[in-house]
Amino acid sequence: MKKIAILGSTGSIGTQTLEVVENQGDIEVTALAAGSNIRLLEEQIRKFRPKIACVFEEEKAKELKRSVRDLPVRVVSGMEGLIEAAVEETSEIVVTAVVGMIGIRPTIAAMEAGKDIALANKETLVTAGHIIMPLAKKMGVRILPVDSEHSAIFQCLNGENKGSVHKILLTASGGPFRGKTREELKNVKVEDALNHPNWAMGRKITIDSSTMVNKGLEVMEAKWLFDVQMDQVQVVIQPKSIIHSMVEFEDGAVMAQMGTPDMKLPIQYALYYPERRYLKGDRLDFWSIGQINFEKPDLVNFPGLKLAYEAGCAGGTLPTVFNAANEKAVAKFLNREITYLTITDMIEGAMNGHTVKENPTVEEILEAEAAAYEYIESRW
Ligand code: NDP
Ligand code: MG
Repeated sequence: MKKIAILGSTGSIGTQTLEVVENQGDIEVTALAAGSNIRLLEEQIRKFRPKIACVFEEEKAKELKRSVRDLPVRVVSGMEGLIEAAVEETSEIVVTAVVGMIGIRPTIAAMEAGKDIALANKETLVTAGHIIMPLAKKMGVRILPVDSEHSAIFQCLNGENKGSVHKILLTASGGPFRGKTREELKNVKVEDALNHPNWAMGRKITIDSSTMVNKGLEVMEAKWLFDVQMDQVQVVIQPKSIIHSMVEFEDGAVMAQMGTPDMKLPIQYALYYPERRYLKGDRLDFWSIGQINFEKPDLVNFPGLKLAYEAGCAGGTLPTVFNAANEKAVAKFLNREITYLTITDMIEGAMNGHTVKENPTVEEILEAEAAAYEYIESRW
């Protein structure tokens, strides 16, 4: 039996990972971690019988502990608990499906303990890629991408020489507001932004997809995962999300990976790589698809992508500031404290006010995060 731990098991990626586990029937779940949703976590514990369960909020952890007294599970909490779940002795793969920079420390701890990482938590790679990628090499562990675009690229690169990649073509649906101007986006409501045309995802990433910040984070994620320069990653709008991404090689050949928009495919591919297993669900029907269209991204009305290129090119602590400002801004937007367009204004403001530090340590990354939060709190 393959043994895996899932950090963020109650979220969109976490629950779909457990669906894959259930469908395949030959994976053992060793540890589960969530933020506060103990109702769902308890259900998962009863069904999948992990050895460790972490609830980030201490009070909730105490509550969960009482309700699973009858089971042989160790309930832990806080960052210490999250790390304990990440390094659970017997697991081979850790699925990082928490949302945000909270994933940095547990991901590093898991790698140091020799675990392969099935990485959904892109914020960790964006902010600490310069630590994560060399560590993977040093420890001889694999970073298996779960993000659909990066899984697509990973699949296109199967059997190819790394040196023969000319360009990565990262596809984007353009989100629910593709084609709109900033003027038209002024009064966007939380509900409108949460309505993604193709993918059902967690709230934060759904907002990020609507602002194109998600694509910006993905450009930086691709840079680290595939060891390319920022200008080798080109974003291509493909509204139906049929092509999940492409790679152009030195000889001009372009490989694409296509599929229906179902995250279970990249999750399953990461868990079983290089094996492919049967996956139940809709299949592409090219007779009914008819056409696939392509467009250039609109960097004027969607400045989030432009800012991400700036952050990624500058490197150091700037991607952290980009990401942290976005995390804070999105939380405020979801909380109805700020308008939609303020999200990217906040990112731009935080980036402008920041002095970049090269090659930051984890502590310096977390300091840059705190500084970005402070900047936003003091200005808005
Ligand atoms: P969700 O918001 O649906 O889920 C987040 C998960 O993280 C939940 O289980 C949540 O627990 C948990 N969590 C939050 N805070 C903490 C904490 N402090 N300690 C431990 N666990 C915590 O997010 P998604 O599943 O959508 O996204 C997860 C990651 O995957 C993100 O980085 C996202 O960018 C990436 N991703 C997601 C895709 C998708 O289709 N959803 C596609 C590609 C990438 P609780 O439920 O208790 O709050
Ligand atoms: Mg993606």
